[in-house]
Order: sequence, then C-alpha cells, then structure tokens
Amino acid sequence: MSQTINNYPWHSAQWRQVINMVEQKRLPHALLIGGVPGLGKLAFVRRLAATLVCQQPIEGDACGQCKSCQLMAASSHPDFTQLQPEEIGKAIVVDAVRKLQNKLANTAQQGGARVVIINGATDLNLNAANALLKQLEEPGDNCYFLLLHQWPKAVLATITSRCQKLDLAVPANAEAVSWLSPHMDAETARQVLQLANGAPLHGLELFEQKAHQVRRQMLVQLTAILRGQQTSLEVAQSWQKLPLTQAFTWWIEWLNDLVKLKLTQDSSYIINTDLLKLLQAVAQRSDIAAVYQLLDAVTQQLNYVHQRRNLNPQMVCEALLNEWYLLVRSGAKQ
Ligand SMILES: [Zn+2]
Repeated sequence: MSQTINNYPWHSAQWRQVINMVEQKRLPHALLIGGVPGLGKLAFVRRLAATLVCQQPIEGDACGQCKSCQLMAASSHPDFTQLQPEEIGKAIVVDAVRKLQNKLANTAQQGGARVVIINGATDLNLNAANALLKQLEEPGDNCYFLLLHQWPKAVLATITSRCQKLDLAVPANAEAVSWLSPHMDAETARQVLQLANGAPLHGLELFEQKAHQVRRQMLVQLTAILRGQQTSLEVAQSWQKLPLTQAFTWWIEWLNDLVKLKLTQDSSYIINTDLLKLLQAVAQRSDIAAVYQLLDAVTQQLNYVHQRRNLNPQMVCEALLNEWYLLVRSGAKQ
C-alpha cells in the first residue's frame, strides 16, 4: 500500500510552528495531537513523520525522493511505526507496545529519526499505556512519539502528563467554506460545517452521506406532524430507514435547544440556529415537563441503539413521534 502525504490549508499556521521546532531541534519527543474529528489529525502527523525521517527535507516537507521517502511511500520504512487498534472499536493491547519496544531497542536502520504514531492514544488499554510510559519518558535520541487524541474520549492522565499537547484549530468558517466549494455550494457548506463542528473533512463526509438532506427531511416531517399534515405512523415508516444513531442524536440536540429556549427565552444559547422559528413555535405551546420527558425518552432509545438492543425501529419512532405531536398540545404552563 503506498502512502501519500496530504496537507490541508487550515493546518498551515500550526504546521509552521511545528516545523520551526523541528528546525531548531526543539520538537518535544512526545506530542499529543487533539482537535475535533474531521480536521485531518492523522494527515498532520503523517506529514510530520515523513519530514522527520526524510534525509533532506525541503522547506519543512519531506523531499519525496530520498531512500527514506521512498520507503515511507511504500509503507516499509524500518524506523517508522504506526500503532492502532487491529479493528475499529478494539483497544491497542500490550503485546503491540512490547513489539514496538523491541524494535526501538535497536538503532535506527536508516540512520535518521525514529518515529512512532499512536492512533489513537485513547485506544491504549491500561496495560498498553503503562508499558508505553517508560518509552515516553526516555524515548532515546532522535526518537519521536506522535499520539493522536481521538476526541472526545479521554486520554489517561499518565500519558497526557508525559506529552506536549497540540490541539489542531478549527478553521475560520470562510476558509472552510472555500475549501468545500469544489464539492458543494456555499449555503450547503455552511450547513454541513455546522453539523461537523466546523471541521471541513467531517463536513465533506457528512455531505457525501447526504446527512444534511436527511436532517432537513427530518425537520420537514417533524413540522408536518405538529401541523397535523402527517401522522406519527407515516413519518415513523420513513424514519425506520434512517441511521437511528444520527437521527436520535440530532433530535436530542434540538430538544436541548428547546429546553434552553424555554428556560431562558434567549435565542443566543441555541446551537441549531437554523431551527429557531420552529423551536420558538414549539416553545410557546409546550410544557417544560413534557419536553424533558421526550428528551429522556429519545436519549434512552439512543442508548438502546448503542447497546445494539433489538429494537423495532418503526414502533420506537412512532411512540416518540407521538410524544412530539402531543408536545405542542401539552400547553405552556406557567
Ligand atoms: Zn526525503
């Protein structure tokens, strides 16, 4: 498998900072890279790893020509290791760390830096993390650990305390919209970026999954139920085909916004600003206790989906949508 090096425009300021440290030989031996999903954290550290092992970097980037660069491109550089779970959702186990330790006990085969990417630091189980601590404390000459923090999971404090942290910044909205512009129009870009916490790669992924269209469709249907134009049963039939994890997560966000609106009457706390009119209309006509009840019910169903309990999606959705219908009929009590 060949490896290409990607760089993204929103990395440039932080990339420059890191390269300055490399050039001044001040790069920490253990860097913990964080930031919301979809900013290209792995691309950032792979680019850095390529620079560190390259024999003659050009303006901070790997030359792409030398022996080291060729070995990196072929994923066979003996002084570069990328550790990650063998399967998504599994942990990085202590055996993998021991293997790494044996490898690092030898001198660098290409005579340059040795680089280890740990993707991600949050996937190390306790034994693996403990085995890694000594390495992080005494990495040896010209040896660098680049750990990725899989937000929002927490990294063990023993690991964090041995690393210097660098959180990749979310780009300015205009920059992100411009980066997405070959793929979609500006309004769509703004919508998907809002769903992606501003992270362009996550935004692109959501766009490719048509997530913004699914979300809009859900909102149209929720409004139609309130107006009595569609029944809970009809909408539930179409919702059973939705990715329920995403659908319930959004619904919970909207209900949280509704709670904020009811409690504060202040729209500046709302996250889903595009829903303000709908939320205000529901807020005026609903009872806070009923909103909390629905919020609890949707949250519970989301937990069931996560636990992979056997749900009947249509029945679950119909019951929840019925509560939604009744919400604006619960009356705003003082
Ligand atoms: Zn090179």
